Amino acid sequence: MTELPVRINTPAGPVELMLEAEEGAVHVSTLVPQAHTLADAMMKASADFVEQRGFPVSCRVGCAACCRHLVAVTPLEAFILADAVSALSTEEQEAVKTRAAAVIERLEATGLAQSIRAGLVGEQGKAVVKAYFAEQLACPLLVDEVCSVYKARPTGCRQLGVVSDPSHCAVPDSTQVQRLPVFVDVQRALTRISASLFPEHPSQIPLPLAIAWTQEHPELKTVGARGVDLVKGLLQATG
Ligand code: SF4
Repeated sequence: MTELPVRINTPAGPVELMLEAEEGAVHVSTLVPQAHTLADAMMKASADFVEQRGFPVSCRVGCAACCRHLVAVTPLEAFILADAVSALSTEEQEAVKTRAAAVIERLEATGLAQSIRAGLVGEQGKAVVKAYFAEQLACPLLVDEVCSVYKARPTGCRQLGVVSDPSHCAVPDSTQVQRLPVFVDVQRALTRISASLFPEHPSQIPLPLAIAWTQEHPELKTVGARGVDLVKGLLQATG
């Protein structure tokens, strides 16, 4: 395992951390834990930055309004989520499957599934995101308002944090929500990398469909690359 020192300048000052990478070939999804380390370090710097200015982060365990948004997962992260779910008990795995099926059924019934599959962007995409939140469909991985795969949650979830009153987060289209600044968009970097690794596939998948997607594409579980190249590619993609 090789250690790669990283130093990134941010409005909060330089952030230094160490990423790890294999010299040899690994499955491409092994990049994700390193991406998560990077995203967590950046969001920690962001949280410290706003806290020093009198705005503490108001997110708390058990507050999961944001887990009712349409979360986009990169294919790389879908594999990590699938691994995390397969580490749950059989009962929990079945419960995830049941909850995901219920969400998908509701999306089909409302016509939202079709819009999501169409990958709408711009104003139409915003309308889909808004309609999804209005449905208040909890993420299939949410149990008693707590993420059941917290350590493996995607960057889309990791990069969310607010300093405003948490009650605003449950209000659709609230203008009162004040989000933490994202100094380095690791989700966007993973999206770019996923697009180059899996050009035939969507670079983002709606979270409720993500685990089923990995099962539909077992051939992608053998896509490998040099670990060091993957991490260097990640750092380049964040630039
Ligand atoms: S993966 Fe976890 S943190 Fe993200 S939306 Fe689902 S329950 Fe919430």
